[in-house]
Amino acid sequence: MRAQPPASHYIDGLYVEDEAGETFDSVYPATGETIARLHAATPALIEQAVAAAERGQAVWAAMTGAERGRILRRAAAIMRDRNQALAELETLDTGKALAETLVADAASGAEALEYFGALAADLRGDYIDLGGSFAYTRHEPLGVCAGIGAWNYPIQIASWKAAPALACGNAMIFKPSETTPLTALKLAEILSEAGLPAGVFNVVQGLGPVGATLASHPRIAKVSVTGSVPTGARVMLAASATTKHVTLELGGKSPILVFADADLDAAVSGAILGNFYSTGQICSNGTRVFVERSVRAAFVERLVERTRAIALGDPMKLTTDLGPLVSKAQYDKVLSYLDIGRGEGATVACGGSAATVEGFAEGWFVAPTVFTDVTDDMRIAGEEIFGPVMCVLDFDDEAEAIARANASEFGLAAGVYTRDIQRGHRVVAKLQAGTCWINAYNLTPVEMPFGGVKRSGIGRENGREALAHYSQVKSVYVEMGTSEAPY
Ligand code: NAD
Repeated sequence: MRAQPPASHYIDGLYVEDEAGETFDSVYPATGETIARLHAATPALIEQAVAAAERGQAVWAAMTGAERGRILRRAAAIMRDRNQALAELETLDTGKALAETLVADAASGAEALEYFGALAADLRGDYIDLGGSFAYTRHEPLGVCAGIGAWNYPIQIASWKAAPALACGNAMIFKPSETTPLTALKLAEILSEAGLPAGVFNVVQGLGPVGATLASHPRIAKVSVTGSVPTGARVMLAASATTKHVTLELGGKSPILVFADADLDAAVSGAILGNFYSTGQICSNGTRVFVERSVRAAFVERLVERTRAIALGDPMKLTTDLGPLVSKAQYDKVLSYLDIGRGEGATVACGGSAATVEGFAEGWFVAPTVFTDVTDDMRIAGEEIFGPVMCVLDFDDEAEAIARANASEFGLAAGVYTRDIQRGHRVVAKLQAGTCWINAYNLTPVEMPFGGVKRSGIGRENGREALAHYSQVKSVYVEMGTSEAPY
């Protein structure tokens, strides 16, 4: 098998196998070829990982922030050096086009390691003068943290969780998605090569139950999961038994609002990027595109023309825009939503079916699809599809557009296209979303916090905010006079 790792897990600085764990396969979505066969972690192996992480964390937390930061930045440099190999592996594991994985995945992971590597040297608390006596706060690590990943951005998700956790002096046990288990192991190798002490970053493989064991483990202080809303709720429930800290990065059904005064070509670009990149498998995608009625026809015409020109094909070819969906299950789910949309009376403006790609008959390809005449009550407008499926809806005025954009249980992201600067700021102030863009979509620089409101999540990744989610504050009061008792 062409992407078989030396062993399934990475614990205490070494590859580890435990053949007692049930097997599962990683499959190349373009061909259906099995590229690796792994064992899920057994309870005994998870205990081994927790013990290693505890030992590693004690060593790591005793180092200065500057020393920790240097190691994280060295890891960023190694990751950049290996970008080509990491991108090819990510494409094999996810099916995403190499043209994307070369620029988006490990590259973003390296940025997170570099950014939090710099912040690690600058962790600081407050000082309060109390008239001679004083108080200060210490920001201390939580201990052993668990990270649980989704399959759409495997190495990026692993890095976005590991970088702030490690910067703050924690250890991490990361469980990748069972669909895309491979690149997290490469992150572990890179961190070791950069000088990370053994046990500080560990990878255990497996399906949901392995994640559930981590989420409920009494010696794990925090769990951060990227996944669907139902999974997030289960993780939160499991974490509650031991009062764990949780970060939940969950699903979305985000709106893009296109006003009549917008640069329509820019808005079409935003809608395309925000719906079809990564074959539509992005949590923050703007899948409800609200277009002001007076420009709707012009918008749809340009949108359809450009969508039809998107190149589906061999993911490894740099001329390919879109690869297949990640799995047969995801492919079936997306196709079922195409039927649902048609059944609900939406119009298929383009796409609307599976796609065949020459030489890849077994690949899970779906044509990028634009539904028009969509109404808010349709399931395709309310439920997360997680595929290349865009819904275009019409609106007449600003207040109506904001109200309809907010009428969702999700609140991950939102975009506004307008040339009116006051309108842009006014509208984003009213949108219920963790990230908003004005005249752009889906840009996620690591310096900016990322996360959701409402059912899309709790907590933030990236930005300085992430540090607060991986540390606890201790208040220290220092008496400089004589401490007195009232009686
Ligand atoms: P998923 O919820 O099926 O699985 C996510 C992870 O949770 C996997 O590793 C899985 O094994 C694990 N898991 C499953 N059941 C569990 C349980 N009971 N306890 C602990 N762990 C468990 O999600 P997915 O299909 O891998 O990913 C797609 C979803 O992720 C979409 O909803 C998408 O919006 C969301 N997502 C969110 C973000 C974000 O940052 N907000 C980013 C990417 C993806």
